Order: sequence, then C-alpha cells, then structure tokens
Amino acid sequence: MLTIGVLGLQGAVREHIRSIEACGAAGLVVKRPEQLNEVDGLILPGGESTTMRRLIDTYHFMDPLREFAAQGKPLFGTCAGLIILAKEIQGSDNAHLGVLNVKVERNSFGRQVDSFEADLTIEGLAEPFTGVFIRAPHILEAGEDVEVLSEHGGRIVAAKQDNLLGCSFHPELTDDHRVTELFVQMVEKHKQEAVV
Ligand code: GLN
Repeated sequence: MLTIGVLGLQGAVREHIRSIEACGAAGLVVKRPEQLNEVDGLILPGGESTTMRRLIDTYHFMDPLREFAAQGKPLFGTCAGLIILAKEIQGSDNAHLGVLNVKVERNSFGRQVDSFEADLTIEGLAEPFTGVFIRAPHILEAGEDVEVLSEHGGRIVAAKQDNLLGCSFHPELTDDHRVTELFVQMVEKHKQEAVV
C-alpha cells in the first residue's frame, strides 16, 4: 500500500489525510524529518508560507526535504505549499525549497476576493473541479519543463514538473478527491518505477 505524508507543522493537515485515505492510500502526518523515510510521497499543505518556513527551519526539515526532492520522490504543494516549492517568489529574494521551476505571486487574487470558489478545467480530469481559493497565490511564470494543468481568469493555478505538483487552491476542502487522486497516481507510478 502507498503511504503519503502530509507535512504536519502548520495548516490544513487533517483534511489532506482524509483526502489521501479517500483515495485508498495510507496518510501519515509528518512532524519529524525521520518520518520522511516512511512515506512514498509528501503533500505540503496550505496555511501561511512564512510561518511554515519558520517551522521548517525550527524543526530542521529543510535539508531532508531537499534530499527527498533530489531523490525524485513526489511532492505536492497546495496554496502555501506551492509557495514553499517554487523557485521564485515575486517581490522576495529568497525562495524556500526552490525546486519547482515557477515564479509565484502571493495573495494574488486581491483583497476583495480573499476567498472564492471557481470551476476549473484541469488537465487529466474529465469534468470540471471546484477549486477553493483562500488568499491564494498564482503562478506568474512557468519554466519550459513545467506543464500547465489549469488556468483561471488567465492565471496559472495548477502545474506539474516531473514528480512535482503544485496548485493555488485547496483540493482537500471538498469531497471531490480527484486532484489528490492525480497525485496518488504520480506516487504510485514513481514507486513502481523505483522497484524495477
Ligand atoms: N496567503 C498564504 C501565503 O502566502 C497562502 C494561503 C493558503 O495557503 N491558503 O502563504
């Protein structure tokens, strides 16, 4: 069985575990770096990226997370998690993990529309998916090696690069688990290839 971790320092952790389990995989809340050895893939949840970064440093997660990514193990960043994955953050000199070849802008949908839902067309899904956006970032620029999976109002809101997946919205906050399922499939494929 696949085990998928959710970085459990801050943010929407339980909801992701519920979604992982709904997809038939086991979910593990990862609170210590050693636990990364027990998971086949990892979700970086939504929350607040600067707070999450502070906790990543406090609990010595930075190098183990970079190592996890360097091994090609799948990572999925949602909302703040996308910001953590990004190579570049608009208006900031410092990226966090800096592995996903995109430039993101934080809180980029404006103050009047702090939170909203939108029906999204997502590559790989046959029917539209309702995306829940909460003070969401969007992807300003995607590198050549990045596949754009979804746009909303001309803005990139989901993208994939090899074993890295990122989205602006919160796929774990509805009962529609198809986006989590896309990640579970990436993890499954990677695990099978790693065995061969
Ligand atoms: N605005 C948050 C940030 O910049 C992200 C919000 C979220 O994850 N829902 O980190």
